[in-house]
Amino acid sequence: MHADTYRHRGLRRTLVEELRRKGIRDERVLAAIGTVPRHLFFETAFQPHAYQDKAFPIGEGQTISQPYTVAYQTELLQVQPGERVLEIGTGSGYQCCVLLELTPHVFSIEYNPVLFERTARRLAALQRPAHLFGGDGSLGLPQHAPFDKILVTAGSPALPRPLLRQLRVGGALVIPVGDEQTQRMVRVVRESEEEFSRQVLEEFRFVPLLGQAGWNK
Ligand code: SAM
Repeated sequence: MHADTYRHRGLRRTLVEELRRKGIRDERVLAAIGTVPRHLFFETAFQPHAYQDKAFPIGEGQTISQPYTVAYQTELLQVQPGERVLEIGTGSGYQCCVLLELTPHVFSIEYNPVLFERTARRLAALQRPAHLFGGDGSLGLPQHAPFDKILVTAGSPALPRPLLRQLRVGGALVIPVGDEQTQRMVRVVRESEEEFSRQVLEEFRFVPLLGQAGWNK
């Protein structure tokens, strides 16, 4: 069931206008949100709600992020065409497909094996050619590093060192950092081999980043 109808396209246009009103300015990001059929990343029961600006359950105790959060993180990444992007926390695959609208080189890693299998099948059916991996994304993907941009879509207790090391010089990491209840969005730029600068931005509420450089559960 992969229907994307006139009605869905209308709902996406309305969602894009809502995100614009909430402060998203990057037209390439807004166009990507306007293109990717978010309802196809939902379990059937939640599909009618797919174009609300809300997070929803995707099974396994995980969520598909709110569209505002997806747009906010993607805007901060400033992905340029041709860049190599790593996403930690594939989840439903929606954010991954938004990134694919900006560059063809998207790598994404998911810790939960059930979600990993389900989403790999979904993206294959939707013919979205991301490089998907199962495993602990808090350690990054050293065999494919360096990356121009790294996006973490789960809340981390600190900046994971392996991810900092896998950024190319000039590259950026966008990651929510805080406790298990709330996190602040942090944008880190690798200024040189040894120097990093960071901006601490808005507050969000994410599910926890698990794994060795995350909450280690
Ligand atoms: N980006 C997803 C989307 O578009 O649907 C939403 C991500 S959801 C808020 C966070 C995801 O991070 C969950 O699927 C969770 O299983 C995953 N996760 C948590 N810790 C992880 C880790 N160490 N490595 C990879 N994925 C992880």
